[in-house]
Amino acid sequence: MIGRKYVDEIISKVEKRNFGEEEFLNAIKEVLNSLVPVFNKHPEYIEEGILERIVEPERQIFFRVPWIDDNGKVQVNRGFRVQFNSAIGPYKGGLRFHPSVNQSIIKFLGFEQTFKNSLTGLPIGGGKGGSDFDPKGKSDREVMRFCQSFMAELYKHIGLDTDVPAGDIGVGAREIGYMYGYYKKIKNANDQGVLTGKGLAYGGSLVRKEATGYGLVYFTEKMLSDNNLSFKDKTVVISGSGNVAIYACEKANELGAKVVALSDSNGYIYDENGINLDIIKQIKEVNRGRIKEYLDYVPNAKYTEGFRGIWEIKCDIALPCATQGEINKEAAEILIKNGIKVVSEGANMPTDLDAIELLQKSGVMFGPAKAANAGGVACSALEMSQNSSRLSWDFEEVDSKLKDIMVNIYINSKNAAQEYGEPGNILMGANIAGFIKVAEAMMSQGIV
Ligand code: GLU
Repeated sequence: MIGRKYVDEIISKVEKRNFGEEEFLNAIKEVLNSLVPVFNKHPEYIEEGILERIVEPERQIFFRVPWIDDNGKVQVNRGFRVQFNSAIGPYKGGLRFHPSVNQSIIKFLGFEQTFKNSLTGLPIGGGKGGSDFDPKGKSDREVMRFCQSFMAELYKHIGLDTDVPAGDIGVGAREIGYMYGYYKKIKNANDQGVLTGKGLAYGGSLVRKEATGYGLVYFTEKMLSDNNLSFKDKTVVISGSGNVAIYACEKANELGAKVVALSDSNGYIYDENGINLDIIKQIKEVNRGRIKEYLDYVPNAKYTEGFRGIWEIKCDIALPCATQGEINKEAAEILIKNGIKVVSEGANMPTDLDAIELLQKSGVMFGPAKAANAGGVACSALEMSQNSSRLSWDFEEVDSKLKDIMVNIYINSKNAAQEYGEPGNILMGANIAGFIKVAEAMMSQGIV
């Protein structure tokens, strides 16, 4: 069929041009393979070279970030901003500060972001950035000096209507604050909407902190209720213990579930009585400590070194909220053997492609990242709206908008899967629904 041939041709071109960029290539394959029926139905997209263009970032900026550590020594990191697609709005997406950050990871995240942002129904294009800087173990002053140096270059490329970064792994309110402060100083402009995830005192939005985690649970709740299930009395395992994991845990608890495990990159904790989230918030948000410290407060809990073992815990719902590549095929096999009902992704690409295939074949409900974790960026877009209207909405207003957005993402993904011949395949439906809006905008705007 025409669609299969076109997709295969583009995948092989992308493989040649981006040789060795494993994460980026995996993201490309996941999306493109699910678009085959779209091209069978819309050959006009092929004529206009939509895929050839959509797989190539509009602009990529790589830069040096020199800074001085507390010992007076010069350190150099690498800075990235990939402006992937602006067909439906200004580039929008987070900044990740983590030692693993490289070109492939930022490109995979920027590519995914394009479709995720489209799914929110809000006018935001796709972008992503970050650095291989590791905030772990750095003093506040070191983090500040790094953020200032990073912004000293980044400010040239962003803007209220051009590109609006936010947080991601390693970038939270502290980093956004330092970056915004420096942006304002060098631009002499109170462009609040140039960054999202800001503190409430200077243009941040209520619910933004909770939005990715809450949104994940709203999305998953809708998927469950569509299958006559709910969070009530379910055992939940959540990987990670950052912003996404903490607020997913909070909302899942609120809906009557019991979250029994959380992790960080060193290991995971298991508390059969249900994780005490106040303790986790103290360890992670206040002390910036390690998950292992939970045992200092709850000696009966169990800590295990290594992060993959977390999937051996028997549960009904798994919410991978740490990072890419957390659930491989072996982990999926164990989850299935233990009777898992749902895997819903809070992180970006935490489940390997072969693991997804296995889960879906075994009848496990699967909530794909670009749909399930879109709540963070959706709330960022609501923050932009509040900034441009110079208003701030109350918690309930933002939260109810977020909930509507997540429910709509589920419905649109489900309908697209149905329309294109794979009812129930929310992964495929999300890719298709996200893609079509971007493709239609690109069709209208000519070859640019
Ligand atoms: N980093 C988040 C994501 O992966 C949020 C991005 C944003 O708020 O712009 O979607």
